[in-house]
Amino acid sequence: MKDCLFCKIASGEIPSQKVYEDKDIFAFNDIKPQAPTHVLIVPKKHIDKLSSLKGTDAELVGKMLLAANKIAKDNGLNGSGYRIVGNCGQDAGQLVFHIHLHLIGGRKFGWPPG
Ligand code: 5GP
Ligand code: ZN
Repeated sequence: MKDCLFCKIASGEIPSQKVYEDKDIFAFNDIKPQAPTHVLIVPKKHIDKLSSLKGTDAELVGKMLLAANKIAKDNGLNGSGYRIVGNCGQDAGQLVFHIHLHLIGGRKFGWPPG
């Protein structure tokens, strides 16, 4: 989609530190990491927010989660654990309106989140 930051990153138009890519998914390091590992997992298809997902996106969402697990494993996080976060809308603090999962790990996290 024109004028979407994560579409431009996924297509390579805007540079990023890529950590994973397949035909449907692109993953890259967050520019402002909140933990030693902080990776954003995005679909190459533009979808504005998690609440816009349709039944036909079920496989894509599953692939995003599996990609997050693979990246966590590749970063040695399987033993210590990690968190996968998806912010949807204003109250969750969604800043970029192209769906993404945050994979964060390498330190302890509190619960509930602030
Ligand atoms: P949200 O709040 O929408 O869930 O998270 C958006 C994330 O995108 C934030 O963690 C922010 O640091 C990250 N981000 C924003 N702009 C850029 C950018 O240009 N490059 C990268 N790599 N990350 C970005
Ligand atoms: Zn987009």
